[in-house]
Amino acid sequence: MIGKKREYPKEIMILEAIVRRFPLDDFRKAEFEKKLYRKRAGYKGEKTLDYYLEQIDHSEMVILYDLRIPINRTHFQIDTLIITTYFLLIIDSKNYAGTLIFLPEFNQLIRVQNEIEEVFPDPILQTKIQASQLKAFLIKHHITPPPIENLVAISNSQAIIKNPTNDKEVSYRVFRSANAAFKIPPFYQKHTQFLLSKNDVKKIARNLIKAHEPLVPDPESMNLPFDKMVKGVQCPACEAFGMDYRQGKWTCNKCGHKTAVAHTQALRDFFLIYGASITSKQFRDFLKIKSSSTAKRLLSSMDLVSLGSNKGRSYSPGKNFFD
Ligand SMILES: [Zn+2]
Repeated sequence: MIGKKREYPKEIMILEAIVRRFPLDDFRKAEFEKKLYRKRAGYKGEKTLDYYLEQIDHSEMVILYDLRIPINRTHFQIDTLIITTYFLLIIDSKNYAGTLIFLPEFNQLIRVQNEIEEVFPDPILQTKIQASQLKAFLIKHHITPPPIENLVAISNSQAIIKNPTNDKEVSYRVFRSANAAFKIPPFYQKHTQFLLSKNDVKKIARNLIKAHEPLVPDPESMNLPFDKMVKGVQCPACEAFGMDYRQGKWTCNKCGHKTAVAHTQALRDFFLIYGASITSKQFRDFLKIKSSSTAKRLLSSMDLVSLGSNKGRSYSPGKNFFD
C-alpha cells in the first residue's frame, strides 16, 4: 500500500510563481528558471519511478514517498522508502540526462552532456548516508532497525549509464526505473528472516509520517525584486498579463480569451511570493481590480479564511486552496 503519497512540491510551486512574475528586464530571471527546470526534472524522475513501483504487487509492503525527517538539527530526505516485514529499502531517483559515469573509488558521478563534464555527488553514498540516518531515527523511536537496503534509480531513459571500473556495488545498486519489478524481489531472497510484524511496519510508517517536515523555502531569503514583480491576472491561453474583469468574466486584452477563474492563479502567486495573507486592498492592487465590490465578490468566492473585520480584514488560503 501507499502510506504517503508524493505531493507536488511547494518549492516548485514557489519557483513557478517567481518565474511567472519576475520582471523581464532583470537578468536574474534566468537563474530562477534554471533552478525551476532542475527541480521539475527531479520531480519528473521521481514520478517515473513511482509509476513503475506501483506496477508491482505492493500489497504486502508500505511505500512512503518524499520524506524529510529532522535529525540532529538538520534533515535527511528520502525519495522513496519501502517498508517490508523483512527489510527496508531506500530508493533515490535521478533524472540526469547525458552519459553518467560512476566512479565509486572517489565517490564521484561524472555526467557528460554536450561535451561538458560535470561532477555530481555519488548517489550510492547519498543513499548509504540516508540509511544510517534512518537507522538513528528508528533507534531514537525504540524500534530495532531491520536491514536497510539502498538503490539508485535512473529515471531518464535517454541517459547512458557507464561503470568503467566494473564496480559490483554500482551494478548491484544502480538500475533503470523501468526495471523496478526485477530489482526488488531479490532482496526477499537475501533477507529471509521475518523481523517486523505488520504492526511494526505500521509503527515505522506512522512515526516517519508524523516527523515529516516538508520543505517550504522562504522567498524573503531569495533577495527578490518584490516591488517590481509583475502584477495583474495572466491569460491562461496566451500567457499575457492584463486581463480585465467584465460581467463576471476575465477578458484578455491581447488575444480576447475569456475565462471566469483566472484570478485564482494570480492569488496563488501572491501567497507563494509574499506570504499567506492578503488584504482586500493588496488583492485589488495585485490583480489590478478597480471596483472594491468586485474584489469582495471574488475574494468570497474562493476557499479562503478571513481574519479581522472591516479595513483590518485579511484573507489566508483555506485548506483546499492549493489543490
Ligand atoms: Zn490572452
